Amino acid sequence: MRSSTTDSGTMFSFLAILVSLLPVASASTSYTVNGNKYNVDEVITRDVTILGGGSGGTYSAIRLNDLGKSVAVVEAAGRLGGNTETYIDPGTGTPIEVGVQFFHNFTVVTDYFARLGVALTTVQAGPNPNTSVITSYVDFLTGLPDPSYVFPNFTAALGAYAAQLFQYPYLDLGFDLPSPVPSDLLLPFGQFVTKYSLQPLVPFAWIWCQGIGDLLATPTIYIMKYLGLSSLQSLQEGFLATALHDNSLLYLSAERVLGSNVLYNSTILAVKRTNDYVQTVIKQGSKTTLIKSSQLIVAIPPTVQNMKVFDSTHQENRLFSQFTYSEYFTALLRGTGIPDTVTLSNVSPGANFSLPLPPNVYAVDQTGVSGLVAVTYVSTTATVGDEIANLVVEQIKNVQVEGKGVSEPVYAVKSNHRPFELRVDAKAIKNGFYADLYSLQGEKRTWWTGAAWHAHDSSLIWRFTEGFLSNITAAV
Ligand SMILES: Cc1cc2nc3c(=O)[nH]c(=O)nc-3n(C[C@H](O)[C@H](O)[C@H](O)COP(=O)(O)OP(=O)(O)OC[C@H]3O[C@@H](n4cnc5c(N)ncnc54)[C@H](O)[C@@H]3O)c2cc1C
Repeated sequence: MRSSTTDSGTMFSFLAILVSLLPVASASTSYTVNGNKYNVDEVITRDVTILGGGSGGTYSAIRLNDLGKSVAVVEAAGRLGGNTETYIDPGTGTPIEVGVQFFHNFTVVTDYFARLGVALTTVQAGPNPNTSVITSYVDFLTGLPDPSYVFPNFTAALGAYAAQLFQYPYLDLGFDLPSPVPSDLLLPFGQFVTKYSLQPLVPFAWIWCQGIGDLLATPTIYIMKYLGLSSLQSLQEGFLATALHDNSLLYLSAERVLGSNVLYNSTILAVKRTNDYVQTVIKQGSKTTLIKSSQLIVAIPPTVQNMKVFDSTHQENRLFSQFTYSEYFTALLRGTGIPDTVTLSNVSPGANFSLPLPPNVYAVDQTGVSGLVAVTYVSTTATVGDEIANLVVEQIKNVQVEGKGVSEPVYAVKSNHRPFELRVDAKAIKNGFYADLYSLQGEKRTWWTGAAWHAHDSSLIWRFTEGFLSNITAAV
């Protein structure tokens, strides 16, 4: 009897161990969102769901967290920061920005960095003050230098441009445009330049507005958003950057504050907004989560691709389908054979203002680390996989100083910032595109932020975001 009891006890514990080793069948519950059924492993409830943990999304999350609201940040990548990316050279420990470089001296900026315990310092931007590095003008397509090219003195033209810019102070705040939209803002920038004799400004504007693509064909409003009043002021008085020259420190600190409220490596499956709540279904690996919230902040680019999981309205679809964008590629390379004392700037002899047309390299710049150079490139047509990275290497080989193909460039890091610079054509702007876009703000419990809603400028995006946070705190 006893023995048999012992036998059955042994059998029971053996089975218990066996069961504990088997994969646990998750107790998922089925939910139907936007007409599709999802087997959900976990349901979480927050005041606000934030899509995207880049510049606009992270700012929103930290501020709402500090205002006592619960948040869930849904981020596709395994880190916060979006276009802010810092490479630490393993040999020297030198941090090098591959993305966002600097900020404006706004209260919203200094408060944000202070909150996250990251010290700031003032830095100068613009033409490289390092006189030990000379700039050589080279056609990257042929590899031929253009010794006749002289970068124009643009000081007076910048002043004339500033005088024009002062007429449109609202551009520094967003896309709240008057009706009718001033016709000068709709002119292709090339025509605007001719109208106001701004020719000497063009090469500087081309370098400054990297990622736009065909500068002269772009409506002037987008150039004025990129090279706007705040940028002119910072060019004069200095920009801000982190004291340790590592802008990613801001986002590492934000990651610590937000902890498990950031859902990394997420794919958004569905977003449904009703009169009473927002439902967002996401997938992380094999886990599916339903986030229920009162409000939604969309801080991912509103492309057709990103929006297809939404219960979009006709108006949202009509507006977002008009956006076009470019791909802005930035990278660090070793083994290029380009001396540490040379910066190479791309020119296209014979072209208007010698400006290369996209797809094109902008420049190969020195990083301060011997043998490591930075390259920037734009494409206005969609590319796949590593297409841009391969094209860039081809063009670098063309300009290798000792001759084509002397050494094999190797990427230390590469980043394709796509989609970049969402824009619409001048006709759409004239017909009230941005008034319609802004009328979406707050509708369907949804708040929108990010570059498409203002400018590719983190400081401006944070100030813009701050403008609607009180509406959200009042609503939850
Ligand atoms: C190379 C480079 C240099 C720049 N330099 C400066 C500078 O010096 N100063 C400055 O102020 N600005 C600079 N900018 C502009 C910068 O892009 C903007 O300031 C800012 O990053 C835009 O913020 P955002 O929130 O709109 O987008 P991002 O910062 O790009 O954030 C979007 C986030 O959403 C995530 N995401 C996208 N799609 C999805 C999806 N479907 N699901 C989930 N998550 C998604 C992305 O992974 C990303 O983290 C630079 C940009 C680039 C590319």
